[in-house]
Amino acid sequence: MRMNARFSTTKLSAVALLLTFMLLVTACGSNSNAGSEPTDAAASPGATEAAAEQPAVEPITVVTSFYPLYYIASEIGGEHVAAFNLIPAGVEPHDWTPKSRDIDTASKAKLFLYHGAGLEGWVDSFLQGLDKNSGVVTKEMSEGISLIAATEEEHAEEEAHEHDHEHEEDGEHAHEEEGHSHGDNDPHTWVSPKSALKLAENVKNSLIETDAANQAVYEQNYETLKGKLEALDQQYTEKLSQVTNKNIVVSHQAFGYLARDYGLKQVSIMGLSPDAEPRAQDLLKIAKFVKENQVNYIFFEELVSDQLARTLAAEANVDTMVLNPLEGLTPEQEKAGDTYLTLMERNLQNLVQALQ
Ligand code: ZN
Repeated sequence: MRMNARFSTTKLSAVALLLTFMLLVTACGSNSNAGSEPTDAAASPGATEAAAEQPAVEPITVVTSFYPLYYIASEIGGEHVAAFNLIPAGVEPHDWTPKSRDIDTASKAKLFLYHGAGLEGWVDSFLQGLDKNSGVVTKEMSEGISLIAATEEEHAEEEAHEHDHEHEEDGEHAHEEEGHSHGDNDPHTWVSPKSALKLAENVKNSLIETDAANQAVYEQNYETLKGKLEALDQQYTEKLSQVTNKNIVVSHQAFGYLARDYGLKQVSIMGLSPDAEPRAQDLLKIAKFVKENQVNYIFFEELVSDQLARTLAAEANVDTMVLNPLEGLTPEQEKAGDTYLTLMERNLQNLVQALQ
């Protein structure tokens, strides 16, 4: 009896394990656009059978340079777009450069969408490297967004002097800090829902230009996404207008557009790129700023080491919390079905909690 019981328990858990495994495999499979070559999907036997049974939807291949564009292209493209993101989950885009197989992938696509505004430092040579006969259309998605000029830092140094007039106009900062400016722009537009709306409009227009036959579908899907982004924008506006503390201390300088559009003040430990590391005296100044301005949390992000944020939090005796710059998903977030929208909602919850 006992042996039988034990045997069947073992058998049961083996079945359960197998089921779990199959579920996991299925889940990964449905997410595979972000990690596998676009040709794989067409080559799978399931796709052939489905095509035989139903009126065929021949999706156009759209390659994107980083996650937010992948998300938007997938939402608006629906079943008419096979979206493929060049940067794999878990990789920080500032660290990433394309390999020759990425140029091949983009050369085979109908449409290549990149952000521009200096995000993809590699994009000029990438575009030149594309197969001239491929006919791939390339589009810069940040077009039409009012860009913020890149300033070396607008942080602790000025704050420590307590200039009350400080945050009047972004343009003034650019002049004051001309010596540090590289004539570049802050690329992180997508972290503000207001810019995401413009990105979505640009993606929609590019899809229609490339695949006019499905204009009606793209228009309809765009309206749905636009509704969600407008709701997000409204939540940000309402909730952030009510918080008492407007200062966010963040890992890298990725929240300039969020700060501009919703009345916050960004102080960053690192520069526009996470590898621009601070000097010891900068860290001390930020620690001083944190103490003097009743900042309760230091924000860190998942794709970058949290070591500096934690060191600073310990130094200033405050807590840390995630603020996601949406530059890419972690593999866990991808598996859990997180999207630009869910992560932006979580960002807002964390902001509200930190700034109360
Ligand atoms: Zn960044």
